[in-house]
Amino acid sequence: MKSEIISKLKTSLRGRVILPEDQDYNEARKVYNGMIDKYPRLIVRCANAADVRLAVAFARENDVPVAVRGGGHNGAGLATCDDGVVIDFTNMKGVRFDPSASTIRAEPGCSQVDVNHLGHSFGCAVPAGVVGLTGIAGLTLGGGTGYLTRKYGLTIDNLLAADMVLADGSFVTASAEEHPDLFWAIRGGGGNFGIVTSFLYQAHPVPQVIGGPMFWDLSDAREVLEWFGEFMPGASEDLYGFFAFLRPQPADPFPVDLHGKVLCGIIWCYCGPPERAEAAFKPIREFRKPILEVVGPMPYIAMQSLFDDLVPSGLQWYWKGHFVNRPTGEAIDRHLEFGSQVPTLLSTMHLYPIDGAAARVGRDETAFSYRDAPFSMVICGIDPDPANTDLITKWTRDYWAATKPYSLGGTYVNFMMEEGADRVRAAYRGNFDRLVEIKTKYDPDNFFARNQNIQPRASGVKVANSQKTA
Ligand SMILES: Cc1cc2nc3c(=O)[nH]c(=O)nc-3n(C[C@H](O)[C@H](O)[C@H](O)COP(=O)(O)OP(=O)(O)OC[C@H]3O[C@@H](n4cnc5c(N)ncnc54)[C@H](O)[C@@H]3O)c2cc1C
Repeated sequence: MKSEIISKLKTSLRGRVILPEDQDYNEARKVYNGMIDKYPRLIVRCANAADVRLAVAFARENDVPVAVRGGGHNGAGLATCDDGVVIDFTNMKGVRFDPSASTIRAEPGCSQVDVNHLGHSFGCAVPAGVVGLTGIAGLTLGGGTGYLTRKYGLTIDNLLAADMVLADGSFVTASAEEHPDLFWAIRGGGGNFGIVTSFLYQAHPVPQVIGGPMFWDLSDAREVLEWFGEFMPGASEDLYGFFAFLRPQPADPFPVDLHGKVLCGIIWCYCGPPERAEAAFKPIREFRKPILEVVGPMPYIAMQSLFDDLVPSGLQWYWKGHFVNRPTGEAIDRHLEFGSQVPTLLSTMHLYPIDGAAARVGRDETAFSYRDAPFSMVICGIDPDPANTDLITKWTRDYWAATKPYSLGGTYVNFMMEEGADRVRAAYRGNFDRLVEIKTKYDPDNFFARNQNIQPRASGVKVANSQKTA
């Protein structure tokens, strides 16, 4: 590409362009998942929405593929690409609270903790995920499940509006009143429809929670899984718990004899009135005494960041998921078979409830369609050492294949690698055709292809990178 073209872009921007010859290029091209190793032609580190429009126009004029980076935490590494332009929000982390409406406006470079740190100062939170440092942008566009899902719904159920740059460079707001079709599509449909430059969320009063993990011996795992699947959907919506197979770290609070041993656990988060907490935890305490319990009161942002230090950037990640019913019978047999073989210290399997308020939204009210699935399951092969890539990948794939017959058919798009067009379709089931219509209207030539791609209904469009299988 001619240097004058790049120079022209550089002088037009408020942010900056990072090129392969720049000192910080190698750092800037990295995403969260250490398995992903892509070499973009240039990175446009945007300062504002005008920069985003300039970057879109630049990519169009020069026919260069585009990737969009919010927090860069996507497991499949969809925030970057080889030989294209990365439109990068690393420096756009503005957040603003409106006390009159209890809303938070956030720029797309924010992590969840950036958003909820501001919220916390006003005793509020936006429902998001269970690891605070992950990006709010990709999480929101895919759905957003976490500790407040049962009480206040998915992150998208709390999204009021989004400012967007579309494929033709135009700038719009998507909300219930403006471009309602686009607003429907971005609530679960990922980055397929345009680039969000600002999210407006409804926050809720969540000053303090009571939470933390309880652990049981692996020999109790069958009963814990059975009990968890039965108990959770009937529990108060103030209470959230996710099940995990895991290996405790060789560190506090774990006694030495538990270090590295496979255990099962449930990580609880109670967000209701403190005077009702004891009643909410009573059936849990009556079920079976854990071998270790670290549950206590803490600010919601502390709960959301409880595991941040465990999973820093740069680890090898391979993950796959299913939406599932309550595990029973043979499904539990498969869980025990693979859950007992967690291959490395950080690898894990989680079962997240997505019922309560999230299930009261109809399956065609937003693009996220699995509103009737009680649980979202994710199998995560994780390790710092690239030499273990095959090990964690094989465990994840085998576990996934063994539990697929008991799944509801699809998965959460934010828990996918690049798994091919059929898996994307399955993630949206009955909402898929409508998503194709909206994609065709807003991005007819698939300019935004680096995502869990929904192809427009036109011939000759770019084939998305994500049509490979993994
Ligand atoms: C440790 C860890 C824990 C997690 N826990 C949860 C959890 O509890 N709940 C949950 O729901 N998910 C969870 N996730 C998954 C998470 O939702 C995804 O990884 C998500 O993609 C992260 O968002 P991001 O902004 O960092 O994504 P990125 O990697 O930046 O981007 C992901 C996709 O979104 C697109 N995108 C990003 N920003 C924009 C934008 N501004 N406009 C348009 N498109 C954009 C990208 O192009 C890409 O296709 C977790 C992930 C990790 C790594």
